[in-house]
Amino acid sequence: MALHPLQNAEFLTTAAHDAQLPEPSHPEIAFAGRSNAGKSSAINALANRTRLAFTSKTPGRTQHINFFRLRSDALLADLPGYGYAAVPRELKEHWQQFLARYVATRQTLVGLVLVVDMRHGVADLDRMLLDAYLPSGRPVLVLATKSDKLTPSAARVAAREMERQLHMRFPVHASRIIVVAFSALRHVGIEQAETVIAQWLGIVDTRATSAAAKEKAPPSRGVTRGPKRRS
Ligand code: GDP
Repeated sequence: MALHPLQNAEFLTTAAHDAQLPEPSHPEIAFAGRSNAGKSSAINALANRTRLAFTSKTPGRTQHINFFRLRSDALLADLPGYGYAAVPRELKEHWQQFLARYVATRQTLVGLVLVVDMRHGVADLDRMLLDAYLPSGRPVLVLATKSDKLTPSAARVAAREMERQLHMRFPVHASRIIVVAFSALRHVGIEQAETVIAQWLGIVDTRATSAAAKEKAPPSRGVTRGPKRRS
């Protein structure tokens, strides 16, 4: 299978509390982040469909976990953005507990993608989510997004620094925390993110295998083609 694990995702269902979660059957990846961090844009850039995650932004759905089915039958769970100042405290607590419970206990969850605005860094609510999630022994990919707001070299430095700080904060789980500089706007970090997500989902990286095969193959005298691109 080509390595665009999020391409052609279809909306499946939405859940506001535990009883509404879909039956755990296929592997699941979750996207989380503070509201306005750039989570919807990141999902859309990876799914290559401009309106996919906007389903989550329709009124009434912003407090839900929205589930999408991927081509591999895996699920993508788009977690509600947290950190709205205007939300009443009780509702905020309900979301936080719902999310913390979901990331800590969801049996089929194989990886968490945490979207963080690179300029603002990891916030308290991000750390709370990681506190709930990491003891489950599963990996996290942090997309340090809006990297286009910095120069490429400053963005790389900022991503490495974010990773260093997270490793210091969660030393026991450091080997399972990766930070990638990302820009939905400029399509930076897409392939790296896809590679990590595909690995989590057990999807074979045909780009890697075809690159390895090319290295082994004798030099061709004919016309060579690059890897197939998305249209
Ligand atoms: P969400 O609330 O986390 O889903 O965030 P959105 O994806 O809706 O993005 C919030 C704002 O950040 C919007 O104005 C986006 O256009 C902007 N944004 C998102 N990703 C990027 C990015 O990679 N680069 C830049 N410059 N802006 C971005």
